Amino acid sequence: MANPTQQDKAAPVDDGAIQKALAEYEKNQRTYLEELKKLVRIPSVSFEGFDKQQVRKSGEATCDLLRRIGLDNVQLLEMPGAHPYAYGEWLKAPGRPTLLLYAHHDVQPAGDEEKWATKPFEPVEKDGRLWGRGAADDKAGILVHVAAIQSWLKSAGSLPVNVKIIIEGEEEAGSGSLGDFLRKHRKMLQADAIVLTDTGNFETGLPSITTALRGIVVVNVEVKALKQPVHSGMWGGPVPDAAMALSKILSRLVNDDGSIAIPGIYDKVKPLSDSERKSIKALPSDEKLFRKQAGMLEGVDLLGGRHPWEMNWRQPSIAVNAIQASSRKDARNIIVDSAWARIGIRTVPDMDPKDVERRLTEALQKDPPWGVKVEVHKEGAGSWWYTSSDAPAFKAAIKALREGYGTEPVTIGCGGSIPFVDPFSKELGGAPALLIGVEDPYTNAHSENESLHLGDFVKATKSAIRLYAELVRVGGST
Ligand SMILES: [Zn+2]
Repeated sequence: MANPTQQDKAAPVDDGAIQKALAEYEKNQRTYLEELKKLVRIPSVSFEGFDKQQVRKSGEATCDLLRRIGLDNVQLLEMPGAHPYAYGEWLKAPGRPTLLLYAHHDVQPAGDEEKWATKPFEPVEKDGRLWGRGAADDKAGILVHVAAIQSWLKSAGSLPVNVKIIIEGEEEAGSGSLGDFLRKHRKMLQADAIVLTDTGNFETGLPSITTALRGIVVVNVEVKALKQPVHSGMWGGPVPDAAMALSKILSRLVNDDGSIAIPGIYDKVKPLSDSERKSIKALPSDEKLFRKQAGMLEGVDLLGGRHPWEMNWRQPSIAVNAIQASSRKDARNIIVDSAWARIGIRTVPDMDPKDVERRLTEALQKDPPWGVKVEVHKEGAGSWWYTSSDAPAFKAAIKALREGYGTEPVTIGCGGSIPFVDPFSKELGGAPALLIGVEDPYTNAHSENESLHLGDFVKATKSAIRLYAELVRVGGST
């Protein structure tokens, strides 16, 4: 609610004001870590089959946090059948740019709990890291925004910029209602620039701005050959095996060198410019380090014949995420009746996600071995995103990160996908989107034993505090 006695004002952006905000943050660092732990304790898994109430609970806990740091108009934003977004704003800096800050409060499933060294939803501080599902991806992202905002509000009584903060609840599940959400709240979400804290740093302590994301296309395929499983001795021979048929179908999707064997799939892949290739080569990385970070076993091939990061950021890739045909637990001497797999293709500029989905579906259904029935269900297709880093907002971000981390930032791509970025930046008329890292290569996001590097968490927050001031200095948005 507006307070008539308090005049609208914006915080000064001189170095003294920045130092005060940073000092305020130093005093309260511990509190933000405790707030992060509270969020990690809520198992807000947004996947089908998990308790939806927990995602609601984390949305509510996020709203509570946004209210406590002094944001206005805090609320859960709901879409039918979707997990709620948390929203808050501070719009008392007339004439100053408006930032749309983004993170997400939902998480991936814990995976195999036996592979976790700690309990996934009980955060533990150890070896300079905070361990737990969502500790980095992306509950740390929420706390970076929260701590930066509150440090300004407590030290200056105001922010240097206007902010709208949106914390999504279905990012990990593919952001299915994002399009409708955007149409519904179009006006409310107008901003001059977007700041996302949901990406990685290239190396621990090395601040990184992500300027390219891959898209993703996911389908499920089910192969059926029998009305029920049968005895493999009594019937084996004349009766086709659905699991074998599925294996044959899947093996047709790749060439021997690992490239995707679906006709036409590479037609629209945009080649790298010379300067892009140079900047990848200049990164502090080589094949040996890449193999180590990816956890590849000795003797296993690196695919593609290009720099591994070029392969990961700017070439499509295919993965079979899961296969099921009977199960390890029920394994016995049978011919299975059906076999199922989930397949994902990561897409890059300028591939068309709908075209990729169609080609993948056709490839799976073409010439079924032994006449087995093949059903394909589409799970979703999100677009890749790509930006040039020429806008002044990027200069502001580079300066803020340089000072926040004490080292020169790098510009990188990301092999992962954030469905939010492309439609929002389009909706905001191509407003710059700053994708700033909170994860490092050892975070293990989505896998077991996820963790957050606590030193980088602090540096990311200090950079965010500086960023608000730097964006005003460069004129904010363009
Ligand atoms: Zn994330």
